[in-house]
Amino acid sequence: MGNRRISLLKRIYRLLDNVTPIDGDCGNLCGARCCKGGDHDGMWLLPDEDLLLKDADFLTIHETLEGKYAICNGHCDRKLRPIACRIFPYFPMLFRTRNGSHSVKPMPDLRALAACALFDTNAPQINPEFKQAVHRAGMLMMQDRCLRGWLGRTGDYIFDIGQMRQMLEA
Ligand code: SF4
Ligand code: SF4
Repeated sequence: MGNRRISLLKRIYRLLDNVTPIDGDCGNLCGARCCKGGDHDGMWLLPDEDLLLKDADFLTIHETLEGKYAICNGHCDRKLRPIACRIFPYFPMLFRTRNGSHSVKPMPDLRALAACALFDTNAPQINPEFKQAVHRAGMLMMQDRCLRGWLGRTGDYIFDIGQMRQMLEA
């Protein structure tokens, strides 16, 4: 565990403590669909994020070869909700800039397109402050090798889902 990584994770938590995708509770639009998964619907945790969640007794944390994920009981202490919940339904996608360096862009998380009411026609606009916070969270993740690896792998997975959707819709 790196102290620097923990400190970055804490900064990401603080950044996303109070921003929300829209003003008010978007759960009212859909009956809080993203918080109503079953036993097989978990949130992937970032490397070492579980160390910040020791007091989150509403979460059960599981470990796989790909990393750790958490399953919740549908209610949480907002201060302890994982980063995956804080940035949903957006994701900071990693990309290579023209000069060859890397940056991130907050993009709709394609895993959410089918279920999230914020992507419905006539849905309220996503708050620019929320997108900005997702962007800044991604930039902080880039400062640690493991967090950056997670960002890249998860972004690739989301990209693959987009490709599959396009193929199915073609
Ligand atoms: S599914 Fe979308 S609209 Fe519904 S609570 Fe989650 S983020 Fe909000
Ligand atoms: S931890 Fe909280 S925000 Fe995340 S899915 Fe569970 S109830 Fe929803």
